Amino acid sequence: MQYETGPAASVLSRYIRYPENKPTADGSFLRVSNITTCDRKQMLDGMQMRRIDAGPNAINGFVAREIGNTMHEHIQAAFKEFVHNFESEVEVSIPDCLTSGHADGVYYASHSNPSKSEGTVLEIKTMRNYGFRKARNEGPKEEHLFQACAYALGLGVTKVHLVYVCSDATPSRWKDSARAGDMVEWLYDIHESFDESETSLLVATTYFLEQHALTAKAFLETGRLPEGLMSYWPTEIPWECDYCPYYDICEQQGDIDIVDVIKIKEADDESVK
Ligand code: SF4
Repeated sequence: MQYETGPAASVLSRYIRYPENKPTADGSFLRVSNITTCDRKQMLDGMQMRRIDAGPNAINGFVAREIGNTMHEHIQAAFKEFVHNFESEVEVSIPDCLTSGHADGVYYASHSNPSKSEGTVLEIKTMRNYGFRKARNEGPKEEHLFQACAYALGLGVTKVHLVYVCSDATPSRWKDSARAGDMVEWLYDIHESFDESETSLLVATTYFLEQHALTAKAFLETGRLPEGLMSYWPTEIPWECDYCPYYDICEQQGDIDIVDVIKIKEADDESVK
């Protein structure tokens, strides 16, 4: 007998349905890893709303995260063994911007000048093959560069080392194929430009950090929940919404304020007691 949705998939779906709300590194309202995320999602994260991981992509997302976590641990362990000054899971606080996080790692190395040892943030990302091949050809995603740069800013270092690991294979008959375990790495100085606009990584990252802090302050002062990616819904629902743990809130509640958010949270908290 073959099941389309068998008992194992069914119990796993229930098991992962309400993922744990992890606290931010220093208790801040925002988290650095959300640096280019939908404003509305960032506010709901800050309010520690119950997350719902459901829908057709839930198990796929869960598996991708688990593979990612495992690869993070192995690469961090390898750095610990072979890079003597490496520290993993380094806490980063940027209180002026109401945000914090953990860098995957920090180490000191002479990258171009043998007489100069430079503090370097290590940021590891596992990618499905399409994203991996795209980045291998075109460069890393901006959001990953901004995240790593924010850690560098918070820690007062200037280099970011981005590592992408491919987590699955494309058919080998494709010209530009990738296998699980293929890796590509970049080293940036935060003063370098990262695109044709010639804006430095430092300037762009600072802009995002400050904008999100202003949005959070406005939300907490006025109570108005920003529209975020819902502003696109009249024409098209962005793919980010399909993977968002607050999709049900946006779909069912629409235009709400902080009082409504607190009521939804209280009702959710009550329902799991
Ligand atoms: S569902 Fe979309 S608009 Fe709503 S919080 Fe999530 S990403 Fe933002």
